[in-house]
Amino acid sequence: MRNLQALFSIFEGFGMSDKATKGYRDTLNLPKTSFSMKANLVQREPQIRKDWAQKGLYGKIRKARSGAALYVLHDGPPYANGDIHMGHVINKVLKDFVVKYKTMTGYDAPYVPGWDCHGLPIESKVVEQLGEKARGMSKRGIRADCMKYASKYAKVQSEQFQELGVFGDFENPYLTFEPVYEAGILEVFAELVDKGLVHKQLKPIHWSVGCETALAEAELEYKDISSPSIFVNFPVAEESIGKLIELGLVKQEEAEKTKVCFMIWTTTPWTLTANLAVAVHPVLDYVAVRYNKDGRSVVSIVGANRLGAVIAAAGLSEGNFSVSNVKVYGNQLEGLRYKHPFVEKNPTDKDAYMVVCAQYVTTEDGTGLVHTAPGHGVEDYITGQQYELATYSPVKNDGCYDDTVPDWLRGKNVLKVDTEINTYLRDHGFLVAEEKMIHSYPHCWRSKMPVIFRATEQWFIRVDKDFASPKLGQEGWRPGYNLRNLALKAIKNVRWIPAWGQKRIEGMLESRPDWCISRQRSWGLPIPVFVNSRGETLMTKESVLAVAKHIGKKGSDSWFTDSAREILGEDFDLPEGFDFDDLKKEENIFDVWFESGCSWHSVAVKAGWPVPVDLYLEGSDQHRGWFQLSLLPALGSMGKAPFKSVLTHGFTVDEKGMKQSKSLGNYVNAQEEVAKYGADILRLWVASVNYQEDVRCSDELIGRTQDAYRKIRNTLRYLLGNIDDFDPTANAVAYEEMFDIDKWAMQQLQKLIADVTKGYENFAFHRVFSLIYNFCTVEMSSVYMDVLKDRMYCDERSSLSRRSGQTAMYRILDCLVRMLAPVLVHTAEEVWGAMKFKSQAVESVHLTEMPKVDEAIDWQADEPRWQKLMALRDEVFRELEELRRKGEIGSNQQALVRIRTTNDELLQILNGFGERAFAALCITSSTTFEKLEVTFEKPTDTMSVNGKVIEDFYDIPMIIITQKSSHQKCQRCWNYRPSVRADSEHRDLCERCVEVIKAKN
Ligand SMILES: [Zn+2]
Repeated sequence: MRNLQALFSIFEGFGMSDKATKGYRDTLNLPKTSFSMKANLVQREPQIRKDWAQKGLYGKIRKARSGAALYVLHDGPPYANGDIHMGHVINKVLKDFVVKYKTMTGYDAPYVPGWDCHGLPIESKVVEQLGEKARGMSKRGIRADCMKYASKYAKVQSEQFQELGVFGDFENPYLTFEPVYEAGILEVFAELVDKGLVHKQLKPIHWSVGCETALAEAELEYKDISSPSIFVNFPVAEESIGKLIELGLVKQEEAEKTKVCFMIWTTTPWTLTANLAVAVHPVLDYVAVRYNKDGRSVVSIVGANRLGAVIAAAGLSEGNFSVSNVKVYGNQLEGLRYKHPFVEKNPTDKDAYMVVCAQYVTTEDGTGLVHTAPGHGVEDYITGQQYELATYSPVKNDGCYDDTVPDWLRGKNVLKVDTEINTYLRDHGFLVAEEKMIHSYPHCWRSKMPVIFRATEQWFIRVDKDFASPKLGQEGWRPGYNLRNLALKAIKNVRWIPAWGQKRIEGMLESRPDWCISRQRSWGLPIPVFVNSRGETLMTKESVLAVAKHIGKKGSDSWFTDSAREILGEDFDLPEGFDFDDLKKEENIFDVWFESGCSWHSVAVKAGWPVPVDLYLEGSDQHRGWFQLSLLPALGSMGKAPFKSVLTHGFTVDEKGMKQSKSLGNYVNAQEEVAKYGADILRLWVASVNYQEDVRCSDELIGRTQDAYRKIRNTLRYLLGNIDDFDPTANAVAYEEMFDIDKWAMQQLQKLIADVTKGYENFAFHRVFSLIYNFCTVEMSSVYMDVLKDRMYCDERSSLSRRSGQTAMYRILDCLVRMLAPVLVHTAEEVWGAMKFKSQAVESVHLTEMPKVDEAIDWQADEPRWQKLMALRDEVFRELEELRRKGEIGSNQQALVRIRTTNDELLQILNGFGERAFAALCITSSTTFEKLEVTFEKPTDTMSVNGKVIEDFYDIPMIIITQKSSHQKCQRCWNYRPSVRADSEHRDLCERCVEVIKAKN
């Protein structure tokens, strides 16, 4: 990168002024600009933002685009707690790139930021801060504190987002606790109620013991834990032994003195308390294994495929056991009964303790007989429904057993009783084996404790219930029209960026259970259900809409203070059997995901934006969260997806790819980074990374972006400095009349505009970054700016040569600053302010439009020619470097270059370009092109003495001869020209410089 180095030396105060020989320095056209080399972003950015605020820039942008086609990026609400972190930085900056780019392509692109304000994380934090005081507080009191907390952090984050240079309607954000937003949620909910998609059910759900509430799929974190893995013998009931004898699994003579058992396996011993059945696979084989245990002879029924594993687990050696010759199908065991090992009497009001059949019994682990507790597992629950078993869950909200369990377990925490149960089983001869098993187990995202499956009464949105099409009404009812199928179909018409997002959400939709939307907490929107004293529920489309109207006016606190009569309104037409004075309000609140999942309605529809909106843009965990949980309510209430495109980004990891956390010490604090480097550096860093993968992030990596920033800034400064005296209306040179190399620069610019536009359109911001960065460092710094120096500084101020270069530089700067504006929001504005003449008469670069390719400039046709010229320039540079290494020359200007070739085509290109232009391209004082007449097969001795044969140059025979110039050095421009000493008045100047000086005087 020699040229780059040379360039930076120029930037030390633009160089030349110190070098030009005294006396002539003032005759040079030295660059001049108010745009400083040092960025000082940390000081400058707040001033720029203050200026924007004073101007009311965001309002002006919206006004300027009023009436234009809409492009809506609908903001996914971050959670209103804590300061922003690097994940927020990536998210908000990416969104801002899109919104600013779309605005600059002429769209009206509103951005309304939102905050998710309800829910457990805030409530937990508030309750934690309140400490003991919380116990004595009313629901309303806690809610008031939660609202203060959420409001505070929404404001804190709003300021932090704006410090990143993000534009949006920060004066009017959406907050999910605002009455109008809450009413919107209920309006969507009313539609789902109307379609029969909402129902209450006693069903096992993920339950957080730590937070005492139901959890949604999106609130689970999977972590490896070690669990006991136990093999347990369930004794076969007396009445069923006869059947086993009949089947041949047990011998008549051993029935009396042998313990006959069904052997089960489990990793959650505490759920054995709620065991109601043992499941077998209907068509798998089962056998009886005989062995001695604790001095007694035992026969255990196990799956034939699991025999080896069972024998190994039980530690039975060869000769110490025998296996029945007879095998039976699982369905032959169906209906046989057993005795629970430690629950004496069936605690439910339904049948229990029998063998049932289930398809999900596998041969992958366990014994082939599955312990079934319908109150504590989803599959168990389904089996329980089939066999009409109770959904028995003897566990209270706090995770402790209730009073229906045996005395020795009552009141004990289920997460702590495994050892006790295992000991009991061992002491009573039921435990066959105990091992440890490491497996992935769901944990609560807040309390970080393992969650349990627990049957409770909850409200669900049913994903497999067929319903009538929102568009066609009852007439549109057809089988298979349900949320799952609709969602699977809808995602095919959404553009997923990156494309794998579709597969990901598809897999999640295929397997997702019904959506449990109720939570047993205080800080949220109440589910609008009334119950009368007979236990009948009032929840209809009309009643929900009546509540929506009330809450829309008075907020959700009114649910807790106002009477049913006040909430529904005196005029509300109560159904048969309901009376205002006999209505109780339920106290469940909505899952926060349902709240944020209705934002397309509460925000987009209410703003009058067409839905589906153009884009949702969030982290890739939202396939499970916000994307999916916005899709389902939208499909249920309006029959279509809320978005046209969904873009996801990865998460920040440290330099080694590890998760970042404060405790690991690899955490990057977003506020500190902004305070240290300035927002534009962070924004440039976001643009430089491939956000579709996990993003490596450290202070050092962000710091390194400064280098790229400086190179871009210096390019902008060079361009600004050299067009200070250039008025495009008066001085611009038509493209056709431009110098060849200036045309080249114009062509490179068109290519850049085309590529950058493509990058922005495809959300490939790292492409945009690398294109602009390379343009600045290669095309500009390494070639063009170097080549222009002589012309810009030394030619006559208003000469065609200088104006030609200035025209190109002006156009390049004007386009570059606009292409950079969405990324370097502050710096681009600074440049725009420093430009004396602007292409668009607007006060901010953010009010301009993106540059478009100038169709009159055909950059593709000329490309082959330029490739040859630039490649030849590289060869010349290599030779000059060699000459310099030998100490023969100092600067390139000291050298003469002769290019000799037999190739007429190349000669034509070279002569067309011109010897002077090529000398300028190589920054030498002189080049000549010569036709080589000899047959060129092998380099002859004379040739190698006089020059270097260039091999592999497009298969073109060519020799480059470089030598030190014998001419004198011009003291003004430092070129070595024959004309130096020719003028009697200015003997130390070349012809060109003499002319310039004379014209000045
Ligand atoms: Zn000169």
